[in-house]
Amino acid sequence: MTGKGMGEMPDDIFVTRSTLPPLEEYLREITPLWDSHWITNMGEKHNLLQAELERVLKVQYLSLFTNGHMALELCLQAMELEGEVITTPFTFISTIHAIVRSGLTPVFCDIEPERYTIDADQIEQLITENTTAIVPVHVYGNLCDVDAIEKLAKKYSLTVIYDAAHAFGVERDGVGAGAFGDASMFSFHATKVFHTIEGGAVAHRDATLDDKLYKIKNFGICNEVEIDRVGANAKMNEFSAAMGLCNLRHFEEEIGKRRQVHDRYIERLTGVKGVTLPKWQPGVKPNYAYFPVLFDEALFGANREDVYKALMAIGVHTRRYFYPLANSLDCIGGRFDAGNTPVAERVADRVLTLPLYAELSPADVDRVCDGLLALYRRR
Ligand SMILES: *Cc1c(COP(=O)(O)O)cnc(C)c1O
Repeated sequence: MTGKGMGEMPDDIFVTRSTLPPLEEYLREITPLWDSHWITNMGEKHNLLQAELERVLKVQYLSLFTNGHMALELCLQAMELEGEVITTPFTFISTIHAIVRSGLTPVFCDIEPERYTIDADQIEQLITENTTAIVPVHVYGNLCDVDAIEKLAKKYSLTVIYDAAHAFGVERDGVGAGAFGDASMFSFHATKVFHTIEGGAVAHRDATLDDKLYKIKNFGICNEVEIDRVGANAKMNEFSAAMGLCNLRHFEEEIGKRRQVHDRYIERLTGVKGVTLPKWQPGVKPNYAYFPVLFDEALFGANREDVYKALMAIGVHTRRYFYPLANSLDCIGGRFDAGNTPVAERVADRVLTLPLYAELSPADVDRVCDGLLALYRRR
């Protein structure tokens, strides 16, 4: 299916495509590694990227990791949390795995119907004497109700660790997404708006935590003869850091291109009955990471599964993201109380993220929209 001739299927459109810097730029970035032979363990590229990201994300401390998952998991462990953690089922399963693998019990709170983030009004009723933390998730680049969450955290002395995997570059009134709560995890996976191939980070404001994170991602090692805690290996290597340094130079341009794709979707799909388009919050600088659309079958004439299949049939790959809900999975909901999360269920059953990446052409956006609108007109 690669030909573009008459009667043949055009090339498939995938939901995302990793951005890569010009090859020469990456080669220039990694050339010094052949001189130094220092290719991992907090080398020059690692340290440079860390400093650059602290500046770009407007955060005080940043600790780099092999991936976002290990960043969150080891952050929870470095903080030595116990008991129950209130979180959302409307997330990538990694969030919940990090909680469970740290020996903590996830308590599921429902989400807000408009921004799909944890419903802060419902958190308080879930707090028990065993609650120690809240792990909210910024979804698709929407920020959680960070003010309400902060108030609750103060009132009940809870730690707040944001899963900010979707929120790279997002700011509210000039404040970086990573500046809220006690810590925030970012993912630099190849599919995210900014990537280091695989990678992640914890942003925070605490010198003591910085020291703990540094050790826990390097086997707990303090010096040649001392190891003061059980740790893991989750250090970012120099080749990943070099990719990050290159991608960072093109980040603003990347977001600009994503915005154009986003705007074309908005233009083509505004006014279509039964389609809920993303709405960004006032005062929040979005990063155009995802283009989530909700389908209401009664008005649109087709449900999410119909749309998913019809688009797949014309070579357009969309993603049911996030579906299924974390608390409906046997490995999680079968082990812990799934809670009562009807809004999350409704959204998970209706949502589809449409293809969105910097190099997606206007013609391709039109192909996605035409495929979608064909279903609508048939109703
Ligand atoms: C991508 C993602 C993660 C995991 O990050 P990795 O870098 O892939 O390990 C966690 N949570 C959310 C919400 C994500 O989107």
